Amino acid sequence: MSTTHAVAGGFDIKTLAVELQTMGVRTREAVEGRQGGAGPSDAGFVWIDGAPLTVPVNGDYVSRSPYELVMHSSGKAGRLLRDGVEIGPVHLHPRPKIYDLETADGVPYWKIALMHLDSLASTVFQRCVYWGTGDQCHFCAIGTSLAGGRTIPLKTPELLAEVAEAAARLDGAKDVTLTTGTPNRDDRGASYMARCAAAIREASGLPIQVQLEPPNDFGWFARLKDSGVESLGLHMEVWDQDVLRRVAPGKHAQGRALYLSAWESAVEVFGRGQVSTYFILGLGESAESVMEGCRAAIDRGVYPFVVPLRPSPGSIVADGEPPSVEYMREVYEQVAPLLADAQMMSQDTRAGCVRCQACSALSTFERAFGGGRDGEPAPVGA
Ligand code: SF4
Repeated sequence: MSTTHAVAGGFDIKTLAVELQTMGVRTREAVEGRQGGAGPSDAGFVWIDGAPLTVPVNGDYVSRSPYELVMHSSGKAGRLLRDGVEIGPVHLHPRPKIYDLETADGVPYWKIALMHLDSLASTVFQRCVYWGTGDQCHFCAIGTSLAGGRTIPLKTPELLAEVAEAAARLDGAKDVTLTTGTPNRDDRGASYMARCAAAIREASGLPIQVQLEPPNDFGWFARLKDSGVESLGLHMEVWDQDVLRRVAPGKHAQGRALYLSAWESAVEVFGRGQVSTYFILGLGESAESVMEGCRAAIDRGVYPFVVPLRPSPGSIVADGEPPSVEYMREVYEQVAPLLADAQMMSQDTRAGCVRCQACSALSTFERAFGGGRDGEPAPVGA
């Protein structure tokens, strides 16, 4: 796999990453990926020019994408075409070995956790107090994977520990990302996440990111850290309050001020750059508001994980359109130097979405400042 940053066909990696994540890629073969789950989801996992990328492969808008992936017969690699013209090679992450394993009770490991490239990820609690109510987040598809029989409602600490140990040993997992639907309006799942993290840490030794809504008691941040959590996701999703009220009323009800103080408390515990927030672009907000949110986050030591809206099947915005390539580029170009100035680039985050980087093209813009990932991990056993 090439590690240069120029890609055949005159496309640079930044353009490719932004266009692919925004437009998706058509493919006739199944690609390893993720369907449903908490937050933005539904994508296939690929490596292009040493950059990890999750790329939408489902949805109406993908059928109109100029990109097509044509697989080689090996099933491990393919050629990327744009409007029928070859752009360059694509490497698919190998099918994880843990997907062929099951628990003693016959639960397949892939129903407990999925490999997102080299990160093991699980939605610990597959329900949410907001789901199916007027408070449901419009971009979320957490209910679909349970309804589709692709997961189980609750992963126990023991099940997660078993799968994490196997993922580290057999598939070279580098970290564990734990997200959750919101189970209650008090600790928002913090106590259960701490128990899961402690079990995973003991069994696998892997660094762990936990993602949840701000709990009522910020003392949970220190308790999560004591249980082995190294990074924390407190996802505001949208900075513009009018847009947030419309697309994520449950989150909006917690209030921006609560999020800001939660960010500050969490950074005191986990350190600068180890706390992150998603900002989903394409929900009706302006670039100015996104940048205001990114500055507020970076000023507090929080990494703004900027991603395009992915209109996932089963979500309220399923029939929507992703944001334009130009809009995503405009924001990425402005955020990357702010992260560089703050010395808070993605490669220093120990676990979770920011470490993996594959759902945002931001890290490909960090490359100009010495940030981002460059190169695939060697396959286990190679
Ligand atoms: S809080 Fe929102 S994004 Fe998270 S699981 Fe609930 S509905 Fe989905």
